[in-house]
Order: sequence, then C-alpha cells, then structure tokens
Amino acid sequence: MRYVLDATAIRNGMTLSGEYEWYMTSSVKDEISRGKQAKDLNLLVDISIKIMDPSTPNVERIEAKARETGDIGRLSKTDIEVLALALEIDGIILSDDYSVQNIAKALDIKFKGGAEKGIKEVFTWRWRCRGCGKFYDEEMPDCPICGSELRSVRKRSKQML
Ligand SMILES: [Zn+2]
Repeated sequence: MRYVLDATAIRNGMTLSGEYEWYMTSSVKDEISRGKQAKDLNLLVDISIKIMDPSTPNVERIEAKARETGDIGRLSKTDIEVLALALEIDGIILSDDYSVQNIAKALDIKFKGGAEKGIKEVFTWRWRCRGCGKFYDEEMPDCPICGSELRSVRKRSKQML
C-alpha cells in the first residue's frame, strides 16, 4: 500500500509503519523542514519516505475538480500537489485538511484522517533485519532467519490518554 503524507499528517502524528510505502511531495517536505515540525521530520528518518512530485496533467485534474467543488480557494499549492500525487500513484492520502479530504472523496482517492479525540499516538520501537527486512518486536543480536544485523525502527502505536 502506498501512502501520501501531507503536513497535517506529520503534525498530528499519524501511524507510520515501515511495512507500507510512504510518499511526500517536495513542497510538503519544504513546509515541514521550515517550520516547527522539523524535529518531527527527524523522527521519521527511520521510515523511508520517497519524495516525488506529481505530473502537470494530474495537478490540472485536481485544480479542475477543486473549482467544481468550490475548494480551490481553500487549497494551497502544496495541498493540490498532495492530491495530484495520490491520484498519480494510486496512493492513500493521510491528511486532516477538510478541503483535501473533500477533493479526495470527489475523485475517489482514498484518504485517512488522523485526529481522533482522546487518542494520542506515540512511538514504540521495533527492530528490522537489514538483510531480509523482517520486523521483530524485541531486540536480538542478529536475524534468526538470515543472520543479518537488525536495526531499530520507530513505530507509532495508539495509546489512550
Ligand atoms: Zn533477516
């Protein structure tokens, strides 16, 4: 499964698992790097996020739909690129932005919001084999399957407050 992250997703600390493919536009990356969220981005370095920008035709499709729904004035250039990228790679958008979700709905792009009342997501650690890629919940000297070294990866899990 491919997920496309927007800045609100990072801000609200959505669950990011190493089992999926993560994508981000360069504009979202810039937005996060500039702001207070830089440290959040650093928290995510263990999860490999591919930086990719959408093609012009997909950007134009999003803009056309946003004009139709009236969301165009509420969407930033970054929002539009996030949507266009999800369209392009058949990805699932992680966003809490209402207008982004609205356009996603209108174009049958899958999306998930992250802000759930009373639930805060926190990191837990797991270990992943550098060789075969298998995940383990506890640290071991090496991978029982292939013998390669394990590295720690952060995993977010839900925790009730
Ligand atoms: Zn292994």
